[in-house]
Amino acid sequence: MTLFTKIINREIPSDIVYEQDNIIVIKDINPQAKIHLLIIPKKEIPTINDIENEDRDLIAELFFVAKKVALNLWIQEWYKLNFNVWKKWWQEVMHIHLHLLSNI
Ligand code: AMP
Repeated sequence: MTLFTKIINREIPSDIVYEQDNIIVIKDINPQAKIHLLIIPKKEIPTINDIENEDRDLIAELFFVAKKVALNLWIQEWYKLNFNVWKKWWQEVMHIHLHLLSNI
């Protein structure tokens, strides 16, 4: 079980900003910007390299959730999104998550 699945299952506490049936949004524990959120599918997919055709809607939904959260926080004109991929390239938690960062 990944760290994020434990968070989704409430086995580890976290600051949950938004949740729907298939996605959760939490505050990053070690923020790299004034606002640093993680948009996480509840399905355990290790890296972007592991997405399958059946994940298309879920991956697209991550961006719709990003848009919704940005609008709710009034940062819709001042944010960036990124996926880190693989340990060698900075991915620490092997459960895909979209970083949403804003310094506004
Ligand atoms: P990455 O390096 O892309 O895998 O990002 C993993 C992110 O998860 C990092 O920005 C960490 O600060 C964050 N993180 C690690 N543990 C927790 C936690 N318990 N709650 C919230 N965020 C976490």
